[in-house]
Amino acid sequence: MASPTTTRFAPSPTGYIHVGNLRTALMNYLIARKAGGTFILRIDDTDPERSKEEYVDGIKRDLDWLGLHWDRVERQSERLDQYHAAADDLRAKGRFYEAFETPTELDLKRKKQLNMSQPPVYDRSALNLSDAEKEALRAERGDGVWRFKLDRERIEWKDGILGDISIDAASVSDPVLIRGDGQILYTLASVVDDTEMGVTHVVRGSDHVTNTATQIQIMKALGHDHPAFAHHSLLTGPQGEALSKRLGVLALRDLREQGVQPFALLSLMARLGSSDPVELRTDMAELIDGFDINHFGAAPTKFDERDLFPLTGRYLQTLDVADVAETLDKLGVPAALAEPFWAVTRENIETLGELDAWWAMFRDGAEPVIEEDDKAFIAEAMAMLPEMPFDASTWGTWTAAVKEQTGRKGRGLFRPLRLALTGQEHGPEMAAVMPLLQVIKARG
Ligand code: GLU
Repeated sequence: MASPTTTRFAPSPTGYIHVGNLRTALMNYLIARKAGGTFILRIDDTDPERSKEEYVDGIKRDLDWLGLHWDRVERQSERLDQYHAAADDLRAKGRFYEAFETPTELDLKRKKQLNMSQPPVYDRSALNLSDAEKEALRAERGDGVWRFKLDRERIEWKDGILGDISIDAASVSDPVLIRGDGQILYTLASVVDDTEMGVTHVVRGSDHVTNTATQIQIMKALGHDHPAFAHHSLLTGPQGEALSKRLGVLALRDLREQGVQPFALLSLMARLGSSDPVELRTDMAELIDGFDINHFGAAPTKFDERDLFPLTGRYLQTLDVADVAETLDKLGVPAALAEPFWAVTRENIETLGELDAWWAMFRDGAEPVIEEDDKAFIAEAMAMLPEMPFDASTWGTWTAAVKEQTGRKGRGLFRPLRLALTGQEHGPEMAAVMPLLQVIKARG
């Protein structure tokens, strides 16, 4: 029997989730849920200096906000014994060796190789060190780094997005898995976790393709099969420009702050870069159902954050007044007006934040716009405007009476009245607006 589908999202807690790593989280989540499997949140925190609790909390908050619930959390910092056991295993198998070159020496070697048009691959000179030489180097420089000795053969796999991949291990340096100061590096920890936690599918960015090649060999050396891999393309800006520098401002917490709604973000990110159309979904089950990793393409994916706002607007239109009751209450909209206020505004906003301005206009009255030629007409019309509160019939009754008395009709009648009451040429149905108006400045 095939093992149950298990995926993981494995952020390093060195920053907040942004749209780039959201793609990774979402794809892994959707695969697990679609198969009725397990979705693990794995915190890759073997770097004690750069990992921060504040980011762990932030990552969880962001996933929660989106409704991407995990089945369990694993922390690499709590699994160091397992990584050391794997390191011992690799040593025993002759696949792990200590190397002492300084970064400067390595850099020099690389430059020489490049000058001679050779690939800048680590030359394995550490393999030739005698025990006495290693002892001397250790005394002089401290412990060395531990490198995994790759088998110099082609590493191949069928990638869920990129298709058939074949990488010549001879073109890759033996990866460092443990630093000189003893810190376990991501590659070793990840390989151990993916095998011990029964991860069946790994989706991550295409910047990890070479890592995958080496990880496949390490897993094999440790006696394990490897999971299925899929590498999604990198996101670019709308013109194809690199997004990497802007990812900082495309953090989920900032988008949330700007009023983007979870389902707008999920609907876009679950389909962007695939052959499936981006459509607003308001139900996780629909997103899960329609998701297929094989529909994604290898080409860079253009992302424009402005697309999130119309989607957010469309999402808001699906909400009932009960769904926004808290927001309206905070805004100070009286309970009796909540329903009509929401009915008027929900089709005219892209974010809930825009409701502030709408309510301010109804509560305080809009600055009237009265054109020179309309001054007398507006004065006459205002004199006929009944006392507040208005109701849904006020607009019809009033404009009929104004028409009767002034002889104005059509646009010449309605446009100046709307401008005088709302300060705007266009907007929602005036019949629905009238009952919301608390102050009419144009009354003079
Ligand atoms: N912590 C790694 C990263 O954020 C995880 C990569 C992976 O999914 O294996 O890049």
